[in-house]
Amino acid sequence: MKKTFSQKMFIASDNAKRILTNRKDRGICTSDIVARERIDAMVEYLFDKSYTPIGDLNIETAYISNEPLTFENRLTGRKRENLRVGDRWAVNTFDCAWFHITGRVPIGYEDKKVVYLLNLGGEGLIYKADGTAVQTITCFASEYAYALGFPLKRVVDDISENGEVDFWIDAAANDLFGNIKNKAIIDEACISVCNVNIRALAYDLQVLISVYDTNQNAFADKIFAICKNLLKSYKTITDDRAEEIRKELAPLLSQKNEGKQFEYYAIGHAHLDLAWKWPIRETKRKGARTFATQLHNIKKYPDYIFGASQAQLYQWVKEDYPQIYEQVLEAAKTPNWDVQGATWVEMDSNLIGGESMIRQFYYGKNFFRKEFNQDMKILWLPDSFGYSACLPQVMKLAGVPYFLTQKMSWNTVNKFPYHTFNWQSPDGSEVFAHMLPEDTYNGPVYGTSLKFGEKNYQERSISSKSMMLYGIGDGGAGPGYEHIERMHRFNDLAYMPKVTPKKALDAFKILDDGKTEYPTHKGELYLERHRGTYTTQSKNKKYNRKCEFALKNYEYLMLLAKERNIELPIKEDELEKIWKEALLYQFHDILPGSSINRVYDESVARYEKILTRLNWAINYLADKIFKKGLLNLNSFAHSGSFNIDGEWYSADIPAMGFTPVSEMKKIEQFSVNATADTIENEKYCVKFEDGCIVSLFDKVLNREFVGRGKKMGVFSVYKDIGDCWDIHPINYQKTKVDAKCTAFKTVDNRASVSAVADFKLGQSTITCTYTLTQGGEVLEADLVIDCHQKNSMMRVAFPTSIVSDECNFNVPFGHISRATTENNSIEKAQFEVSGQKFVDISNEKLGLTLINDCKYGYRCKGSVIDVNLIRSPLGGPGHNVDQGIHTVKFALYAHEGKISADSYKYAYQINNEPICVNGIGDTGSMSAFHCDNENIILESLKISDDKKGAVLRLYNCADTEQECRIAFDGYKIAGTTDILEDSVMPCKDKLTFRGFELKLVKIDRVSE
Ligand SMILES: [Zn+2]
Repeated sequence: MKKTFSQKMFIASDNAKRILTNRKDRGICTSDIVARERIDAMVEYLFDKSYTPIGDLNIETAYISNEPLTFENRLTGRKRENLRVGDRWAVNTFDCAWFHITGRVPIGYEDKKVVYLLNLGGEGLIYKADGTAVQTITCFASEYAYALGFPLKRVVDDISENGEVDFWIDAAANDLFGNIKNKAIIDEACISVCNVNIRALAYDLQVLISVYDTNQNAFADKIFAICKNLLKSYKTITDDRAEEIRKELAPLLSQKNEGKQFEYYAIGHAHLDLAWKWPIRETKRKGARTFATQLHNIKKYPDYIFGASQAQLYQWVKEDYPQIYEQVLEAAKTPNWDVQGATWVEMDSNLIGGESMIRQFYYGKNFFRKEFNQDMKILWLPDSFGYSACLPQVMKLAGVPYFLTQKMSWNTVNKFPYHTFNWQSPDGSEVFAHMLPEDTYNGPVYGTSLKFGEKNYQERSISSKSMMLYGIGDGGAGPGYEHIERMHRFNDLAYMPKVTPKKALDAFKILDDGKTEYPTHKGELYLERHRGTYTTQSKNKKYNRKCEFALKNYEYLMLLAKERNIELPIKEDELEKIWKEALLYQFHDILPGSSINRVYDESVARYEKILTRLNWAINYLADKIFKKGLLNLNSFAHSGSFNIDGEWYSADIPAMGFTPVSEMKKIEQFSVNATADTIENEKYCVKFEDGCIVSLFDKVLNREFVGRGKKMGVFSVYKDIGDCWDIHPINYQKTKVDAKCTAFKTVDNRASVSAVADFKLGQSTITCTYTLTQGGEVLEADLVIDCHQKNSMMRVAFPTSIVSDECNFNVPFGHISRATTENNSIEKAQFEVSGQKFVDISNEKLGLTLINDCKYGYRCKGSVIDVNLIRSPLGGPGHNVDQGIHTVKFALYAHEGKISADSYKYAYQINNEPICVNGIGDTGSMSAFHCDNENIILESLKISDDKKGAVLRLYNCADTEQECRIAFDGYKIAGTTDILEDSVMPCKDKLTFRGFELKLVKIDRVSE
């Protein structure tokens, strides 16, 4: 079989590895080592001889286009006729073409298995002339982790009618990994006979020799002796002779395990990144290709089980390929198709907010209920980059008891200690987690991999069962015939782990038998990799945060509007579409920044449209409901000085409420001050030197918060020779170059004072405006960065005066602590960590909270909070990432003692500033939401599915149990509910929250 240079290189190195092991560990003599290598060559030869060409396929016409065309519109592409093998058909990656293929099956092969062999130098979906999609092809040269097998798919079943061949291929000038390969040259197009016995013999030998490779016993020796014997005659093999040899081998292949053996529950899998090295539009096509391939496999192999997750992927296939989708719906009713996952997409969980996390489950589960009538029970995130501590609690509320991953095997320093374990959120919610012991979701079904997984399985002493996902993935595709053929032979083969096809939920139910005592892991699953993804492609991250707040604000106003019979500017169905699009961009290669530039060009353009529409709708509703004043859409009251139309007012805007200007107090006396190098209000006196803070003095606490002899707000650039995923950790700090201050001034704006510092950092410029307002509790900072850096990372550091072994990082529903020390390899490996709206360092006496409106990457060691602002790494897949203008908002909040609800209050205020309304509504001062405990935060709300009211998402931001009473004007509390709103449990007036607990409380409108 033809192989690319890199495939050959892989095979050579794999062989070399085996030779060395055989010599060292097994003491095998040289002649046997040579024989073993020749057996591989024999298997290769047999695969080559599995197909005998009997005629050509004619590539009559190709209709080429830059973007995809539907089957109906296929003739509108640029026409090219009489293409032949050796011709190049595409210029650019992701070019598309419809190929019209004809031919005639020669007479005399009626009793043979006739196939087509096709390689167009890309991927392709094959259509019958009537427009029915049947099968797919993937080029020889497709990029992949070759240690896991070769992704080639070139064999297509004969679909001729009375010998007449006539079909179409919707081709893509990209391989599985989004590369144009071999210049998109047509490599093969012929009609062949499949020598079924030779092919089956090749699989037999491939499996048997792996028993020899992984065992030292008489059975292995016997296999080796038989294989060696075959070396003498294989080159003259015929299909009939192959059949005879297979009969001789049959007793070996049917030798079963005696007694108990390790067992894999196996599911065919095709990990499909919804965007990565290809744009979203190609994912839609990849989805159709993958599903078509797997439906074909299911028809061929009645016991085969294939699974696919992600509601969004099914939705796309439903919209664009209804014919394939119908077959999927049918297959899902059989034991063959496993519908997996409970979320809209396989999302990132470090970078998304609380309501997003809830909606991933809400829309995901609802989709599968409606379309497949299935209640999804597994959170399926095999590839996301670390897992938020909040996931188990949200899973619990979504009725999802199981979690599957494999990503923790990617840790670079500390091996994650479990494969099967109970996983707990900080609030104590617990789910059952399983990590694939083969350390991959692209299992190759090789003997070596099966044995590796068995040995690697860390709960081996308490369980002899695990799951296995096998097939080609990342760019979709899934198992080829070879995977399934090998899987069958490993079903129960002596001395090898058993491989049993089983749907994921059935497997989970067996693993979680209620009797086995598995270990427990509490808190986040920190991935010791990909820490660059907390920062890369920062515009997407900012837009995601802005969208999350805009959606939250709109949904609250929507509730108020409904009570007032105001027509909604964005109706429920459009809102659902917006939510689903926002959830799509939270996919684990989009939001983290690990896709190609086109993905971001497209998503940023969409985010801008979505945000414009949401903000318009928010203002529209605010104007209809309220008069002139300020609207506070956070669950904390907001007190302070506000500038409205150039006048300063002091106001105390209630939680989720409105204060008209007419009820505000105009500020006549100003108590803030600025000198040449200081700004000052009632709480802080801030002193600057070279544009940086040399003193952050809290006058009330009588404490200095800048570390002794240090400066806060120092902008620096570091060499970043990593890629979009990874910061190269080795001493990157040593390459630090600090920004130079080029201008500094202070500005007095009556009730606020600002210090404006301009910096130059290489080719980049930064303007940082620090502001104190009258009566304000935080020092705000607005950054405008014009970034022009290459292979670099821009950061800003805040060395504090606070000594603490721990730092607190905001997560969707609360905060988690991580060590500021580097006392062991786990602490050291966390050289960069994720956090959301704030990070707080505090001890019994003092604390400092650093709030931001769009950042996620931090390094917090010693007493320094160091924020990753912008990465423009050396490596891709994105190139020249994050150049140009960026705006970032920060705030510092100095406080007494440990972190409290106040840090949350200011974090929400910085992220979600009051809305200035100048409307025509008649609503005056109001606050709909009341809660008597400030630790209980209303994160967001959603109109309830029964339309009687809303479901409030309330969480306790303290680590201790809290009680509260809540009220919502015009509504009564119906009880607590779940994410799917399936049932409402009556609750007492007084609600009790465990530390960091999330509760969903349903409120129903009281009829007037
Ligand atoms: Zn992935």
